[in-house]
Amino acid sequence: MKHYIMFGPPGAGKGTQAALMVEQYNFRHVSTGDLLRHEIQEQTELGKLAASLINKGELVPDEVVEGMIQNELEAHSDVKGFIFDGFPRTVAQAEVLDKMLEKRGESVTSVISIVIDDTMVRDRIRHRAMIEDRKDDMDDETITTRIRNYHKKTEPLIAYYKERGKYNEIYGVGSIKDIFKRICSLVDSTI
Ligand code: ADP
Repeated sequence: MKHYIMFGPPGAGKGTQAALMVEQYNFRHVSTGDLLRHEIQEQTELGKLAASLINKGELVPDEVVEGMIQNELEAHSDVKGFIFDGFPRTVAQAEVLDKMLEKRGESVTSVISIVIDDTMVRDRIRHRAMIEDRKDDMDDETITTRIRNYHKKTEPLIAYYKERGKYNEIYGVGSIKDIFKRICSLVDSTI
């Protein structure tokens, strides 16, 4: 089974590209952001905790998202591959993912890093705020915290995956289609 990680700052287009990959390759898309927003909508205990953190731009605890990923892996044993979107977001999460996959005799196939700069991150999020009703997209201070957390907690994953020879960069500026083409040539080389 193949395991791809969509990597990049908030608003880089991970979710958009992951959805296209599902159409093209029939992989299962797992977005921790979407799973958390579902919990918030259902007003579960987990959802309440998640909302209080997400709306401030903070990450939810590692154990929470790790549990979600474990459930997804167990629930979909029939798929050809997974696309993780928004996970891992800390080195601790990456280590746990490696262990989860190792137990299954599997490993991360490739990390697809969509590269855009911080100014574009802000523009994209502002634009998304007009389309989707996401509280964490509405407030400048929240966006600043998310960008800061990305640099501090998530960016160290670049070195983690480079050391393991899994890290690939895709230039994230251009049309959705052009960016998807760049991703496809990468994925095709791993199938
Ligand atoms: P974006 O890519 O724009 O940051 P996401 O939908 O991926 O949006 O995530 C929204 C929020 O959900 C994050 O800011 C964070 O609070 C929380 N979240 C999502 N994935 C994780 C994760 N792997 N670890 C911790 N928190 C997460």
